[in-house]
Amino acid sequence: MSATTDPNIMNQPVLPPMPQPERRSLLGLSRDNVGQALREIGVPEKQVRMRVGQLWHWLYVRGVQQFSDMANVSRDLRTALEQNFEIARPEIVEEQISVDGTRKWLFRFPPRGAGRPVEIETVYIPEEGRGTLCVSSQVGCTLTCTFCHTGTQRLVRNLTEGEIVGQILTAREKLGDFPDIDTPAGAIVPSEGRLVSNVVMMGMGEPLYNFDNVKQALAVASDGDGLSLSKRRITLSTSGVVPMIGRTGDEMGVMLAISLHAVRDDLRDVLVPINKKYPLEELLAACRTYPGLSNARRITFEYVMLKGVNDSLADARELVRLLKGIPAKINLIPFNPWPGTEYECSDWDQIERFADLVNEAGYASPIRTPRGRDIFAACGQLKSESERMKKGDRLALAAAVAS
Ligand code: SF4
Repeated sequence: MSATTDPNIMNQPVLPPMPQPERRSLLGLSRDNVGQALREIGVPEKQVRMRVGQLWHWLYVRGVQQFSDMANVSRDLRTALEQNFEIARPEIVEEQISVDGTRKWLFRFPPRGAGRPVEIETVYIPEEGRGTLCVSSQVGCTLTCTFCHTGTQRLVRNLTEGEIVGQILTAREKLGDFPDIDTPAGAIVPSEGRLVSNVVMMGMGEPLYNFDNVKQALAVASDGDGLSLSKRRITLSTSGVVPMIGRTGDEMGVMLAISLHAVRDDLRDVLVPINKKYPLEELLAACRTYPGLSNARRITFEYVMLKGVNDSLADARELVRLLKGIPAKINLIPFNPWPGTEYECSDWDQIERFADLVNEAGYASPIRTPRGRDIFAACGQLKSESERMKKGDRLALAAAVAS
């Protein structure tokens, strides 16, 4: 008897579909953990190393997105991989391209456990000799730096190592930075070399509050047989989580940037409130002993220029005094206003006077030209789309672009 003619079955309530068990992502895992995953699905021990190498190559050198495209992996193993694991990248909700070539992607990641899908932003900044990808480490942020738009969005969760690596892979795919993918016609990209040559952990979130996942993701990003980014081209930017700074140098070995923005504790307590916990003296002491610090491996100090707040020449002199003895670069960042902020960008003449004083003291202190302002992609402007819509920012953006 067919199911549809069985009266007992006809009378049964329709049950919701069984929830599918979450497949574990292999993205961002260490080689050891990928090997362990393969053992768990029955790959013989003597094949594990070779299979890990194959997977690594397909994922990070060729940039494939499906196990079925891994041509030199046996069909049986591809099927087993498909049934047990995933290598999915984030969904691209929106891609915005600035007139200056800067790209901003709104990425959505699926729920983890009982959570909800989450959205973050990732930004690509092309320049003459390099392409920099600004990567997020958290959804939202617990810190409330008052000049930063992201800081107005509450923390939802940390991103996993796979979600951090997924941002790099998806950006490379969209830019045509993998061997079998073409760069979109008309895209503004570096004229030679890799299209994503640098990664900065400067997007949404405080990376040192997600230390383990960031560390693992950056290990994958710098693996010489995969994404192969030099650690000198990876920069982690922190608001000043002092106890983790030494570990960052020892365990990650990447370049360090500090969101400094003020030279007095009373002002930094307001602009970067983590300063109340780790004041300037402690922060700069941690910088002086940053592992690997040298003239060739300088710390970058980020300094946002806020009109009438931190941009006096006395501030510039104090900045020079504070950083004495630290191999340092100073990035002066013209403030990028966002709807609702109380701050204004310093006048350009004042920024130049400030820069001259710092330059005369021997610091290379470029004024960072604002990028991607028309798509809200500049420093401190990142937010998830849902948060942006809540605040009505898109209307303000539309008005700003139209004016
Ligand atoms: S500047 Fe960084 S640490 Fe501060 S609120 Fe913004 S995202 Fe968070």
